[in-house]
Parts: sequence; C-alpha cells; structure tokens
Amino acid sequence: MNPPSVVYLTGGAQGIGLGIAEHLLARGDCVALTDIDAEALAECRERLGHPERLLAMVSDVRDERQVAESIATAVTRFGRLDGVIHNAGLADPFQGPVEALDLATWQAYLDTNLTGAMLCAKHAAPHLRESRGALVLMASTRALQSEPDTEAYAASKGGVVALTHALAISLGPEIRVNAISPGWIEVGDWQKAASRMPVEHRAVDRDQHPVGRVGQPKDVAAMAAFLLSDDAGFISGQNLVVDGGMTRRMIYAE
Ligand code: NAD
Repeated sequence: MNPPSVVYLTGGAQGIGLGIAEHLLARGDCVALTDIDAEALAECRERLGHPERLLAMVSDVRDERQVAESIATAVTRFGRLDGVIHNAGLADPFQGPVEALDLATWQAYLDTNLTGAMLCAKHAAPHLRESRGALVLMASTRALQSEPDTEAYAASKGGVVALTHALAISLGPEIRVNAISPGWIEVGDWQKAASRMPVEHRAVDRDQHPVGRVGQPKDVAAMAAFLLSDDAGFISGQNLVVDGGMTRRMIYAE
C-alpha cells in the first residue's frame, strides 16, 4: 500500500494523532479520522485543510456501533480502506497507588486503549483483507518498563503489544499488523486551543535521550506512515519502539 491511500485513524484531533493526520495528508493520502472531542475535531478540520481528502467524525472507540459505523462511513466516502491506525487513548499514565485504584478507572483504560484496538481490527478487517492493507496499533514504552502508580496504563499497553502479534497471525497474509511504542512525545502544543500548553524542556529532559531531544508527533507519524507502506511489506507482528533511544539507557543509582 503506497500513497495515495485511504487511512482510518482514531484519536486524530489532537496530539500524536493530529501529527499523523497532518503527515498523511501532506503525502497525498485520504484520511478518515475520529475523536470523541467535538471541539477538537472542529479545530483540527480548520488546521488540516484538504476537505476533499479529510473526513473528521465524532466517534468513541469504546462503542462498537460507533466504530463500525465510522469505518463504514469512511469506506462509503473514499471507496476503499488501505490502512487503520488505532491511536486514541487515555494517555495519562498515572492512576495513583494500586491500593486506591478504583475498578472504574482500571476499566476505562482497558476500554479505550485495548478494547478500542480490538474493535477497530474487528470492523476494519474485511476491508483491509480486500485491499491487502495494514493495521497499526499505538502501544507505549510503558508496555515494557514502568514508573510507580501506572498499573492500568501499563497493562492496557502491554495488552496492545500482545493483541498485535495475535492479530498478525490471525489476519495474515492479507493484513500486516504492527504496534508502535512511542517514548516521551511532547504533545502540549498539539491540543485544542482551550487546553494547549507549549512546554519548555529542561536540559536533563533532553539529555536522557541518546538523540538529545524529546520526541515530536512527527517522529511517530513517520513510523506509522512507513508501517502502512509497501516498504514495510516484510514486517508484521512487531512492536516498533520510537523513543530516541531512551529505554536503551542503563541507569545505576549513584
Ligand atoms: P492526546 O491526549 O494528546 O490525544 C489523544 C486523543 O484521543 C485526543 O484527541 C482524545 O480526545 C482522543 N480520545 C480519547 N478517548 C477517546 C475515545 N474513547 N474515542 C475516540 N477518541 C478518543 O494523547 P497523545 O499523547 O497524542 O497519545 C496518543 C496515543 O499515543 C495514545 O494511545 C497514547 O497512549 C500513546 N502514547 C503517547 C505518548 C506520549 O508521550 N505522548 C507516549 C506513548 C504512547
């Protein structure tokens, strides 16, 4: 699948998803993006432009009917589906001490980050089989390592990594399935106006990355575009870490 192609993207109105949408539109793709935040969607339509190649829909990845309907709408509008990126997520990794973690919070993380991925795969699979397309799921380096008080987020992303290899085996050879595990990606100035928060990074923030900087949405977008493309035709079931090398640094206490 090489551009121009049709890509369905969840959580595309802000943050990494908005960066992915911008990247895909710039290379000529048609993008059907969804988000639960109507205000952010309205702003992203303005920002992204290309109304002839952009479809921005309110849809909740936790709701099977909404996922099915928004995928069907994308196929009706653009005539086919070549790629799917499940990026929508509850992105704050901190849920507080496990002793005080309430079940509703735990469930909310699993519903959005993990169940949402399964629902996208389920309803996109018939279309991706037809186009011999690709599916990309957003995991996290927190699937591989942790800070304290991040049980729900880490478990949801660990589930995404496992779901990725399961789907790759079930849906191949027609569909390739891969995960991206971003590290620290700064999305403060990629939010809707009401919650935009440009962030200055300290030297210590930059220096813990072997590449000397914190990540940007375009770093993840480039990987997503590659994984959707025919250049990634021999890659499936993998978890690609995009973290500026941060998780490769070994730390011993002084
Ligand atoms: P973000 O909060 O900036 O953007 C997430 C978007 O998803 C928002 O627009 C939000 O409205 C939408 N969303 C939330 N719940 C939804 C739902 N139920 N249905 C549809 N849309 C929904 O977050 P981000 O930092 O851009 O993160 C994007 C993805 O990348 C998430 O899956 C996150 O876990 C992952 N990730 C982010 C980082 C990082 O450092 N930013 C690192 C690792 C992984």
